Amino acid sequence: MSSTPPKTQESGIPDAREDRNLDQTLRPASWDEYIGQEGIKTNLHILLTAAKNRNQTPEHILFYGPPGLGKTTLAHLIARETRAQMRMTSGPAIEKVGDLASILTNLSPGDILFIDEIHRLNKLIEEILYPAMESGVLDIIIGKGPSARTIQLELPPFTLIAATTRISLLSSPLRSRFSGGTFRLEFYTDEEIARIVSRSATILGVPLADDAAMEIASRSRFTPRTANYLLKRCRDFADVRETTLDKRAVGDALTLLSVDTLGLTSADRAILRAIIEKFHGGPVGLKTVAAAIAEEESAIEEVHEPYLMRLGLLERTPRGRQVTPKAYEHLGIPVPEHLQTTLL
Ligand code: ADP
Repeated sequence: MSSTPPKTQESGIPDAREDRNLDQTLRPASWDEYIGQEGIKTNLHILLTAAKNRNQTPEHILFYGPPGLGKTTLAHLIARETRAQMRMTSGPAIEKVGDLASILTNLSPGDILFIDEIHRLNKLIEEILYPAMESGVLDIIIGKGPSARTIQLELPPFTLIAATTRISLLSSPLRSRFSGGTFRLEFYTDEEIARIVSRSATILGVPLADDAAMEIASRSRFTPRTANYLLKRCRDFADVRETTLDKRAVGDALTLLSVDTLGLTSADRAILRAIIEKFHGGPVGLKTVAAAIAEEESAIEEVHEPYLMRLGLLERTPRGRQVTPKAYEHLGIPVPEHLQTTLL
Protein backbone atom coordinates (compact mmCIF):
# COMPACT_ATOMS: atom_id res chain seq x y z
CA MET A 1 0.00 0.00 0.00
CA SER A 2 1.51 3.32 -0.94
CA SER A 3 -0.47 6.26 0.42
CA THR A 4 0.94 9.78 0.67
CA PRO A 5 1.78 10.58 4.26
CA PRO A 6 0.23 13.74 5.70
CA LYS A 7 2.47 16.83 5.84
CA THR A 8 3.32 16.65 9.54
CA GLN A 9 4.50 13.08 9.06
CA GLU A 10 6.79 14.11 6.25
CA SER A 11 8.22 17.04 8.13
CA GLY A 12 9.16 14.92 11.14
CA ILE A 13 8.26 17.84 13.39
CA PRO A 14 4.90 17.78 15.10
CA ASP A 15 2.41 20.48 14.41
CA ALA A 16 1.44 21.90 17.81
CA ARG A 17 -2.23 22.19 16.83
CA GLU A 18 -2.55 18.70 15.41
CA ASP A 19 -0.75 17.13 18.32
CA ARG A 20 -2.67 18.91 21.06
CA ASN A 21 -4.34 15.67 22.13
CA LEU A 22 -1.01 13.94 22.44
CA ASP A 23 0.32 16.91 24.43
CA GLN A 24 -2.58 16.63 26.82
CA THR A 25 -2.33 12.88 27.30
CA LEU A 26 1.38 13.01 28.03
CA ARG A 27 1.58 16.34 29.88
CA PRO A 28 3.35 15.94 33.24
CA ALA A 29 0.89 16.33 36.10
CA SER A 30 3.47 16.93 38.84
CA TRP A 31 6.84 18.62 39.29
CA ASP A 32 8.47 15.19 39.63
CA GLU A 33 7.18 14.16 36.24
CA TYR A 34 8.49 17.38 34.70
CA ILE A 35 11.99 16.30 33.77
CA GLY A 36 14.93 18.73 33.47
CA GLN A 37 14.91 22.58 33.54
CA GLU A 38 16.08 22.25 37.15
CA GLY A 39 17.13 25.90 37.50
CA ILE A 40 13.68 27.13 36.46
CA LYS A 41 11.93 24.65 38.74
CA THR A 42 13.98 25.81 41.74
CA ASN A 43 13.30 29.48 41.01
CA LEU A 44 9.59 28.85 40.57
CA HIS A 45 9.48 26.89 43.80
CA ILE A 46 10.97 29.85 45.68
CA LEU A 47 8.66 32.34 43.98
CA LEU A 48 5.52 30.29 44.67
CA THR A 49 6.44 29.45 48.25
CA ALA A 50 7.27 33.07 49.07
CA ALA A 51 3.95 34.23 47.58
CA LYS A 52 2.07 31.56 49.50
CA ASN A 53 3.77 32.50 52.80
CA ARG A 54 2.75 36.11 52.24
CA ASN A 55 -0.74 35.11 51.23
CA GLN A 56 -0.31 36.85 47.89
CA THR A 57 -0.88 35.80 44.31
CA PRO A 58 2.45 35.06 42.58
CA GLU A 59 3.91 37.83 40.44
CA HIS A 60 3.74 37.76 36.63
CA ILE A 61 6.00 35.29 34.85
CA LEU A 62 7.35 35.07 31.30
CA PHE A 63 8.65 31.87 29.68
CA TYR A 64 10.51 31.90 26.40
CA GLY A 65 12.24 29.41 24.15
CA PRO A 66 11.60 27.29 21.05
CA PRO A 67 8.25 25.47 20.70
CA GLY A 68 7.66 22.17 22.51
CA LEU A 69 10.11 22.70 25.37
CA GLY A 70 7.47 22.77 28.11
CA LYS A 71 6.35 26.40 28.61
CA THR A 72 2.61 25.63 28.67
CA THR A 73 3.24 22.64 30.90
CA LEU A 74 4.98 24.88 33.46
CA ALA A 75 1.94 27.18 33.49
CA HIS A 76 -0.31 24.16 34.19
CA LEU A 77 1.99 23.01 37.00
CA ILE A 78 1.96 26.47 38.59
CA ALA A 79 -1.85 26.53 38.43
CA ARG A 80 -1.98 23.12 40.05
CA GLU A 81 0.48 24.08 42.76
CA THR A 82 -1.36 27.30 43.64
CA ARG A 83 -4.77 25.64 43.19
CA ALA A 84 -5.66 28.45 40.86
CA GLN A 85 -8.04 28.38 37.97
CA MET A 86 -6.19 28.91 34.68
CA ARG A 87 -7.70 30.87 31.77
CA MET A 88 -5.87 30.20 28.53
CA THR A 89 -5.66 32.44 25.51
CA SER A 90 -3.07 33.54 22.97
CA GLY A 91 -1.75 36.74 21.41
CA PRO A 92 -3.45 36.27 18.02
CA ALA A 93 -6.77 35.30 19.67
CA ILE A 94 -7.05 38.70 21.38
CA GLU A 95 -8.06 40.80 18.41
CA LYS A 96 -9.66 43.84 20.02
CA VAL A 97 -9.12 45.89 23.16
CA GLY A 98 -12.58 44.73 24.21
CA ASP A 99 -11.50 41.06 24.02
CA LEU A 100 -8.78 41.63 26.59
CA ALA A 101 -11.00 43.85 28.75
CA SER A 102 -13.60 41.10 28.86
CA ILE A 103 -11.03 38.43 29.77
CA LEU A 104 -9.58 40.61 32.54
CA THR A 105 -12.91 41.65 34.06
CA ASN A 106 -14.07 38.03 34.13
CA LEU A 107 -11.12 36.84 36.20
CA SER A 108 -11.72 35.67 39.77
CA PRO A 109 -9.30 36.52 42.59
CA GLY A 110 -6.14 34.38 42.38
CA ASP A 111 -6.75 33.23 38.78
CA ILE A 112 -3.89 32.59 36.38
CA LEU A 113 -4.17 34.13 32.93
CA PHE A 114 -1.99 32.27 30.43
CA ILE A 115 -1.23 34.11 27.18
CA ASP A 116 0.62 31.98 24.64
CA GLU A 117 2.50 33.62 21.75
CA ILE A 118 2.38 36.97 23.55
CA HIS A 119 4.72 38.47 20.93
CA ARG A 120 1.76 38.43 18.56
CA LEU A 121 -0.33 40.71 20.76
CA ASN A 122 -1.33 43.93 19.04
CA LYS A 123 0.54 46.98 20.44
CA LEU A 124 -2.67 48.89 21.31
CA ILE A 125 -3.90 45.93 23.31
CA GLU A 126 -0.50 45.57 24.93
CA GLU A 127 -0.93 49.02 26.46
CA ILE A 128 -4.09 47.91 28.27
CA LEU A 129 -2.02 45.18 29.87
CA TYR A 130 0.54 47.54 31.45
CA PRO A 131 -1.69 49.08 34.17
CA ALA A 132 -3.46 45.73 34.61
CA MET A 133 -0.15 44.02 35.35
CA GLU A 134 1.36 46.80 37.39
CA SER A 135 -1.47 48.22 39.45
CA GLY A 136 -4.30 45.74 38.92
CA VAL A 137 -6.50 48.27 37.15
CA LEU A 138 -8.13 48.48 33.77
CA ASP A 139 -8.28 51.89 32.11
CA ILE A 140 -11.21 52.19 29.76
CA ILE A 141 -11.64 55.21 27.51
CA ILE A 142 -15.23 56.20 26.94
CA GLY A 143 -16.17 58.48 24.06
CA LYS A 144 -13.95 60.18 21.52
CA GLY A 145 -12.24 63.55 21.04
CA PRO A 146 -12.36 66.30 23.69
CA SER A 147 -15.26 64.68 25.54
CA ALA A 148 -13.44 61.36 25.93
CA ARG A 149 -12.80 60.32 29.52
CA THR A 150 -11.08 57.42 31.21
CA ILE A 151 -12.68 55.28 33.81
CA GLN A 152 -10.68 52.93 35.91
CA LEU A 153 -11.87 49.47 36.95
CA GLU A 154 -10.24 47.62 39.80
CA LEU A 155 -9.29 44.06 38.79
CA PRO A 156 -9.10 41.05 41.10
CA PRO A 157 -5.51 40.02 41.91
CA PHE A 158 -4.26 37.66 39.20
CA THR A 159 -1.03 36.20 37.84
CA LEU A 160 -0.20 36.61 34.18
CA ILE A 161 1.91 33.80 32.76
CA ALA A 162 3.03 34.46 29.21
CA ALA A 163 4.96 32.35 26.75
CA THR A 164 6.82 33.31 23.60
CA THR A 165 9.13 31.77 21.06
CA ARG A 166 10.35 35.26 20.04
CA ILE A 167 11.45 37.27 23.07
CA SER A 168 13.14 39.84 20.82
CA LEU A 169 9.74 40.93 19.47
CA LEU A 170 8.49 41.90 22.94
CA SER A 171 8.67 45.60 23.74
CA SER A 172 10.83 46.49 26.71
CA PRO A 173 7.93 48.07 28.69
CA LEU A 174 6.07 44.76 28.43
CA ARG A 175 9.13 42.68 29.32
CA SER A 176 9.86 44.79 32.38
CA ARG A 177 6.43 44.11 33.84
CA PHE A 178 7.08 40.41 34.43
CA SER A 179 8.15 41.10 37.98
CA GLY A 180 8.11 37.41 38.99
CA GLY A 181 10.82 36.62 36.47
CA THR A 182 11.64 35.88 32.85
CA PHE A 183 12.79 32.33 32.29
CA ARG A 184 14.49 30.92 29.24
CA LEU A 185 13.79 27.23 28.63
CA GLU A 186 16.86 25.33 27.53
CA PHE A 187 17.06 22.46 25.08
CA TYR A 188 17.10 19.09 26.89
CA THR A 189 19.93 16.59 27.04
CA ASP A 190 19.51 13.23 25.27
CA GLU A 191 19.37 11.52 28.67
CA GLU A 192 16.52 13.76 29.81
CA ILE A 193 14.61 13.19 26.57
CA ALA A 194 15.14 9.42 26.90
CA ARG A 195 13.53 9.60 30.36
CA ILE A 196 10.62 11.61 28.95
CA VAL A 197 10.12 9.11 26.10
CA SER A 198 10.26 6.14 28.47
CA ARG A 199 7.59 7.73 30.66
CA SER A 200 5.43 8.46 27.60
CA ALA A 201 5.86 4.87 26.35
CA THR A 202 4.61 3.58 29.71
CA ILE A 203 1.54 5.86 29.54
CA LEU A 204 0.81 4.78 25.95
CA GLY A 205 1.40 1.11 26.84
CA VAL A 206 4.26 0.71 24.35
CA PRO A 207 7.10 -1.60 25.41
CA LEU A 208 10.30 0.35 24.67
CA ALA A 209 13.84 -0.84 25.40
CA ASP A 210 16.28 1.67 26.93
CA ASP A 211 18.48 1.80 23.83
CA ALA A 212 15.40 2.36 21.66
CA ALA A 213 14.38 5.29 23.91
CA MET A 214 17.90 6.68 23.52
CA GLU A 215 17.68 6.31 19.74
CA ILE A 216 14.45 8.33 19.66
CA ALA A 217 16.04 10.87 22.00
CA SER A 218 19.08 11.36 19.80
CA ARG A 219 16.84 12.32 16.88
CA SER A 220 14.36 14.46 18.82
CA ARG A 221 15.90 17.94 18.40
CA PHE A 222 16.39 18.06 22.21
CA THR A 223 12.64 18.75 22.38
CA PRO A 224 10.04 16.78 24.40
CA ARG A 225 7.13 17.41 22.02
CA THR A 226 9.14 16.11 19.07
CA ALA A 227 10.24 13.08 21.10
CA ASN A 228 6.63 12.20 21.98
CA TYR A 229 5.58 12.68 18.38
CA LEU A 230 8.35 10.42 17.07
CA LEU A 231 7.47 7.81 19.68
CA LYS A 232 3.91 7.80 18.39
CA ARG A 233 5.10 7.37 14.79
CA CYS A 234 7.42 4.54 15.90
CA ARG A 235 4.51 2.85 17.65
CA ASP A 236 2.49 2.97 14.41
CA PHE A 237 5.46 1.52 12.53
CA ALA A 238 5.83 -1.34 15.04
CA ASP A 239 2.08 -2.08 14.90
CA VAL A 240 1.92 -2.20 11.11
CA ARG A 241 5.18 -4.14 10.65
CA GLU A 242 4.32 -6.39 13.60
CA THR A 243 7.70 -5.86 15.17
CA THR A 244 8.86 -4.96 18.67
CA LEU A 245 10.17 -1.47 19.17
CA ASP A 246 13.88 -2.08 19.54
CA LYS A 247 16.70 0.24 18.54
CA ARG A 248 16.74 -1.06 14.98
CA ALA A 249 12.99 -0.70 14.44
CA VAL A 250 13.20 2.87 15.78
CA GLY A 251 16.01 3.61 13.33
CA ASP A 252 14.01 2.16 10.42
CA ALA A 253 10.84 4.01 11.39
CA LEU A 254 12.58 7.36 11.71
CA THR A 255 14.58 6.96 8.52
CA LEU A 256 11.29 6.30 6.76
CA LEU A 257 10.08 9.64 8.13
CA SER A 258 13.22 11.30 6.71
CA VAL A 259 14.49 12.09 10.19
CA ASP A 260 18.23 11.45 9.94
CA THR A 261 20.75 10.41 12.58
CA LEU A 262 21.22 14.00 13.76
CA GLY A 263 17.45 14.48 13.94
CA LEU A 264 17.40 16.70 10.85
CA THR A 265 14.22 16.69 8.80
CA SER A 266 13.97 17.19 5.06
CA ALA A 267 13.22 20.89 5.67
CA ASP A 268 16.39 21.31 7.77
CA ARG A 269 18.46 19.65 5.07
CA ALA A 270 16.80 21.77 2.38
CA ILE A 271 17.88 24.92 4.23
CA LEU A 272 21.50 23.79 4.48
CA ARG A 273 21.56 22.49 0.92
CA ALA A 274 20.09 25.72 -0.49
CA ILE A 275 22.69 27.85 1.31
CA ILE A 276 25.49 25.59 0.08
CA GLU A 277 24.34 25.02 -3.48
CA LYS A 278 22.74 28.34 -4.32
CA PHE A 279 24.70 30.78 -2.18
CA HIS A 280 28.17 29.24 -1.85
CA GLY A 281 27.62 28.48 1.82
CA GLY A 282 26.50 32.05 2.70
CA PRO A 283 26.28 34.54 4.23
CA VAL A 284 22.79 34.99 2.86
CA GLY A 285 19.72 36.81 4.19
CA LEU A 286 16.81 34.98 5.81
CA LYS A 287 14.30 36.25 3.23
CA THR A 288 16.41 34.88 0.38
CA VAL A 289 16.74 31.46 2.02
CA ALA A 290 13.00 31.34 2.69
CA ALA A 291 12.23 32.20 -0.94
CA ALA A 292 14.75 29.66 -2.24
CA ILE A 293 13.09 26.74 -0.46
CA ALA A 294 9.51 28.10 -0.39
CA GLU A 295 9.36 27.97 3.41
CA GLU A 296 7.98 30.61 5.79
CA GLU A 297 10.55 32.91 7.36
CA SER A 298 9.01 32.46 10.80
CA ALA A 299 9.28 28.65 10.57
CA ILE A 300 12.94 28.92 9.61
CA GLU A 301 13.65 31.37 12.41
CA GLU A 302 11.63 29.73 15.18
CA VAL A 303 11.86 26.02 14.43
CA HIS A 304 14.77 25.16 12.16
CA GLU A 305 17.51 27.67 12.90
CA PRO A 306 17.70 27.24 16.69
CA TYR A 307 18.30 23.53 16.20
CA LEU A 308 20.76 23.87 13.30
CA MET A 309 22.68 26.47 15.28
CA ARG A 310 22.65 24.33 18.39
CA LEU A 311 24.18 21.47 16.37
CA GLY A 312 26.81 23.83 15.01
CA LEU A 313 25.67 23.41 11.40
CA LEU A 314 24.60 27.01 10.86
CA GLU A 315 25.74 30.40 12.09
CA ARG A 316 24.03 33.77 12.17
CA THR A 317 26.40 36.54 11.19
CA PRO A 318 25.67 40.27 10.80
CA ARG A 319 25.67 39.66 7.03
CA GLY A 320 23.26 36.72 7.11
CA ARG A 321 23.11 32.96 7.55
CA GLN A 322 26.19 30.89 6.92
CA VAL A 323 26.71 27.12 7.04
CA THR A 324 29.69 25.58 8.80
CA PRO A 325 32.12 22.92 7.49
CA LYS A 326 30.22 20.41 9.68
CA ALA A 327 27.10 21.00 7.54
CA TYR A 328 29.02 20.09 4.37
CA GLU A 329 30.32 16.94 6.04
CA HIS A 330 26.89 15.89 7.29
CA LEU A 331 25.41 16.23 3.80
CA GLY A 332 28.36 14.42 2.24
CA ILE A 333 29.43 17.49 0.22
CA PRO A 334 33.20 18.28 -0.01
CA VAL A 335 34.15 21.21 2.23
CA PRO A 336 35.37 24.12 0.06
CA GLU A 337 39.01 25.05 0.46
CA HIS A 338 38.43 28.48 1.99
CA LEU A 339 36.51 26.84 4.87
CA GLN A 340 38.94 24.00 5.52
CA THR A 341 41.10 25.91 7.99
CA THR A 342 38.09 26.26 10.28
CA LEU A 343 38.13 22.48 10.62
CA LEU A 344 41.54 22.41 12.31
P1 ADP B 1 5.51 24.66 24.73
O1 ADP B 1 4.40 25.35 25.48
O2 ADP B 1 6.88 25.13 25.14
O3 ADP B 1 5.34 24.67 23.24
P2 ADP B 1 4.42 22.28 25.99
O4 ADP B 1 4.43 22.66 27.42
O5 ADP B 1 3.10 22.31 25.30
O6 ADP B 1 5.50 23.11 25.16
O7 ADP B 1 5.08 20.82 25.90
C1 ADP B 1 4.78 19.91 24.86
C2 ADP B 1 4.68 18.49 25.40
O8 ADP B 1 6.00 18.05 25.70
C3 ADP B 1 3.92 18.38 26.73
O9 ADP B 1 2.61 18.02 26.55
C4 ADP B 1 4.61 17.25 27.44
O10 ADP B 1 4.02 16.02 27.08
C5 ADP B 1 6.01 17.30 26.91
N1 ADP B 1 6.94 17.94 27.84
C6 ADP B 1 7.39 19.21 27.76
N2 ADP B 1 8.29 19.45 28.73
C7 ADP B 1 8.41 18.31 29.44
C8 ADP B 1 9.22 17.94 30.56
N3 ADP B 1 10.08 18.78 31.12
N4 ADP B 1 9.08 16.67 31.05
C9 ADP B 1 8.23 15.82 30.45
N5 ADP B 1 7.46 16.11 29.38
C10 ADP B 1 7.55 17.34 28.87
